[in-house]
Amino acid sequence: MATDPPLAKIIESIAELRQQVQQWRRDGLRIALVPTMGSLHAGHLSLTELAARHADRVVVSIFVNPLQFAAGEDFDRYPRDLAHDQQALAAMPVSAIFAPSEATLYPRGRSGITQVSLPGLSAEFCGAHRAGHFEGVTTVVSLLFNLVQPDVAVFGQKDYQQLVIISQMVRDLHFPVEIVSAPTVREPSGLAMSSRNAFLSAEQKARAAVLHEQLQQTAQALRNGRRDFAVLEQQAAAKLSAAGLQPQFFAIRDRAIGAPTAQGDQFVILAAALLGTTRLIDNCLV
Ligand code: AMP
Repeated sequence: MATDPPLAKIIESIAELRQQVQQWRRDGLRIALVPTMGSLHAGHLSLTELAARHADRVVVSIFVNPLQFAAGEDFDRYPRDLAHDQQALAAMPVSAIFAPSEATLYPRGRSGITQVSLPGLSAEFCGAHRAGHFEGVTTVVSLLFNLVQPDVAVFGQKDYQQLVIISQMVRDLHFPVEIVSAPTVREPSGLAMSSRNAFLSAEQKARAAVLHEQLQQTAQALRNGRRDFAVLEQQAAAKLSAAGLQPQFFAIRDRAIGAPTAQGDQFVILAAALLGTTRLIDNCLV
């Protein structure tokens, strides 16, 4: 009879985390961190596999970070199920799950505390629609880097703007952490996996696939040599609206999320749209 794989241990306190990290360091082991907000799906799990290729020990952090939710967003109803997450990680190369409480990470509360922020890009695209979101992300990731002191940290390309902002933060603050990006894992329909997909009805889930389809169509137009960026963006947004989504942005940018040039041949297309009350984001590298 096959036996179940052992569950990775859950660490809740900073003292225990530090003790564990120090032990690994004494043993000369490389440490990888995969920051998440839990409600784990195959996309998250693929990040742990990639992390294990870059390090000897993988720590997955699970923390629904209140600082990165704007007022009125889904912080309270964001799905949380630590027991399910621990089960999902049992088959993965994960040594520990760091799942601190809010009081552990932010003992002085949510306001009036030291924040890390990257001006400019943090206020564009997702940041323009989610006030304070990226400041919350850069603050919590800095905290996690200080606590876990990883050699490498893995982030998904699905959150492309987040990846660019964190990479810049690491350079600006000289964090000794290598940032590795992981490809987006998708449903068979093409829909990018996301914890928020749990909010979609079956009908909405089928409809949501149009976002990826449209990104691919615009990517193909760019590959075919089209450089009328504004027209492509408008046409794409109109098609998303016609399919019943409410696009927030559909933007062709260079890989650093700067303005694209007609001579350029490397682009990223960023898109976000509401479907009902659920916010979908996706992107495509060209
Ligand atoms: P989250 O729990 O949504 O904060 O995501 C934690 C990490 O998983 C982030 O680095 C995300 O970019 C990454 N991630 C989320 N969804 C996917 C996906 N479908 N494929 C790959 N990585 C993902």
